[in-house]
Amino acid sequence: MKKEFRDLLRQRGRQAMPQVLLVAAECMPLSKTGGLADVVGTLPKAYREFGIDARVITPYHRVIKDRYAGQTEHMCYFYSRLGWREAYVGIEKLVVDGVIFYLVDNEQYFGDRIYRGDKAEGEQYAYFSRAVLDAIPVLDFHPEIVHCNDWHAAMLPMLAHTQYVGGMQDRLKYLLTIHNIAFQGKFGFDYVQDLLGVDERYYTPEFMELNGCADFLKAGCVFADRINTVSPSYAEEIKTPYYGEGLEGILNARSAELGGIINGIDKDLFNPHRDPLLPARYNRGLLRGKAKCKAALQDSLGLEQRPEAPVFAMVTRMTEQKGFDLVVSVIDEVLYNSNMQFVLLGSGEKRFEDFMREAEQRWRGRVCSYIGYNEELAHLIYAGSDFYLMPSRFEPCGLSQMIAMRYGSIPIVRETGGLRDTVQPYNRFTGEGTGFSFSNYDAYDLKEAMFRALECWGSDEIMHGLIHHAMSADFGFARSAEDYARTYLWML
Ligand code: ADP
Repeated sequence: MKKEFRDLLRQRGRQAMPQVLLVAAECMPLSKTGGLADVVGTLPKAYREFGIDARVITPYHRVIKDRYAGQTEHMCYFYSRLGWREAYVGIEKLVVDGVIFYLVDNEQYFGDRIYRGDKAEGEQYAYFSRAVLDAIPVLDFHPEIVHCNDWHAAMLPMLAHTQYVGGMQDRLKYLLTIHNIAFQGKFGFDYVQDLLGVDERYYTPEFMELNGCADFLKAGCVFADRINTVSPSYAEEIKTPYYGEGLEGILNARSAELGGIINGIDKDLFNPHRDPLLPARYNRGLLRGKAKCKAALQDSLGLEQRPEAPVFAMVTRMTEQKGFDLVVSVIDEVLYNSNMQFVLLGSGEKRFEDFMREAEQRWRGRVCSYIGYNEELAHLIYAGSDFYLMPSRFEPCGLSQMIAMRYGSIPIVRETGGLRDTVQPYNRFTGEGTGFSFSNYDAYDLKEAMFRALECWGSDEIMHGLIHHAMSADFGFARSAEDYARTYLWML
């Protein structure tokens, strides 16, 4: 164990690291719709190095039942109060890859989709919050810290401190991690009161009211002992009205307890040296394989076979969040004034998909888009491209830019959230840097950054330096796990 942790433990008069219960709506390898599942699934394994026993409690979704039903151990069942209802709660235990999962079983709430949307989703996760709190005393595990993720678990600290006063749930410490503040779980107060019996005095702007709704995430921000988001820059940004989605007030008030921890990527899954999805492999010392991947990419997408033409790429949801409107504004001009090629893999808003189809017609052999989801092509694009565009309007953390760097595709990003924290801008005087960046959400600035990149493309020496630095950056989960471990210790 690191000396810093030993010292922190000694200061707190403790021998051992705390036990932690992670609470999340989805978790790898059991269930997944987004990056949250990767983080929650990876942390318990990464914590082993720090001596933290972390277990996960998550709904027993249909997808989990279909795959793991034969491997679970039934621990107990009881009934929880959900307003006037009595709701069945089964607790099943499952061990996968050495990680212990407690599964909250109720066919009525988790018998089909992970997220039912709208009010039904509110009821699903109000039930889950109640079930988790009622389950804590009966688990074969005694956590000191409850780590709640996103709005689906954000009601726990408020319920614990207002409805379980004096109970063991009330004495635990709660960490709330916000993976994307755009999703808050907003419902009518009557509905929430009916489900969870929340006292009317908490339906005020000081507690959980926001714009006439009861807001689960806000309740978490008010009552959690500590709050963090998935990058230090995003933690600063969400304290402003532009990014804060109405929660900037409470987040400013709690800024002493608010921090940012960058997510990591799976270094084994994204590894150009061993990636089975690539036609050739390479590492930062031997890039010949990358040239082969580029040729294969150009070939498979019908682009002109020209090694000297820089390939710019995006693998993305096509939404305004990802800055696609900026790309639409500048791409023709940059194509006209350079020999660049442009590859896009993604899907999303129709207007952006249509734009790409038309651009492909206008620039035959130089632009190609694949509308859809394709894991294998994504790997080939990261490996075969020279530059990676990510001009996001906001980006809590962002994984794509880290994957791109790992594969030696130089990112061109807007300086926001996790992009600012992971991409070091190229400095032409020192030769340092891992990418290119611009600060304002402005098409002109994106264009200017792309031309800066194209200028560097002319120099082998500069490009080798950039690729070397980008591929050397460490974006593994160990760093995130260490930051979370430190946060837990601060909370005790
Ligand atoms: P998001 O906001 O969408 O979570 P991230 O950059 O954090 O953005 O993560 C997106 C992840 O999904 C990356 O690993 C990216 O490669 C992958 N991805 C996005 N769109 C596609 C697609 N169409 N096909 C394959 N992978 C995709």
